[in-house]
Amino acid sequence: MTPPPQPMILVSVTRPDPTADPDYISYQQQGEEIREALMYARQAAREQIAEEEAPRMAVICQCCGASTIPDLNGCCEYCGGPVNG
Ligand SMILES: [Zn+2]
Repeated sequence: MTPPPQPMILVSVTRPDPTADPDYISYQQQGEEIREALMYARQAAREQIAEEEAPRMAVICQCCGASTIPDLNGCCEYCGGPVNG
């Protein structure tokens, strides 16, 4: 059994410019907005990390005697005891 002849499909060779499409422009703008929001969030996170790390200095732990940098709770990173950083 031979397959029926396929209808000839005419493909337009000239394609419309996608950058002129209103949907394209709208999605591109949304993409830019998302990108900027992410960039801002990342920058804010970087600044927060730098802020948290900047004032911390090595201190001698009263509990274990180690030279330690207190964690965010002000505790020794080795023994977990409170240190006055
Ligand atoms: Zn300690």
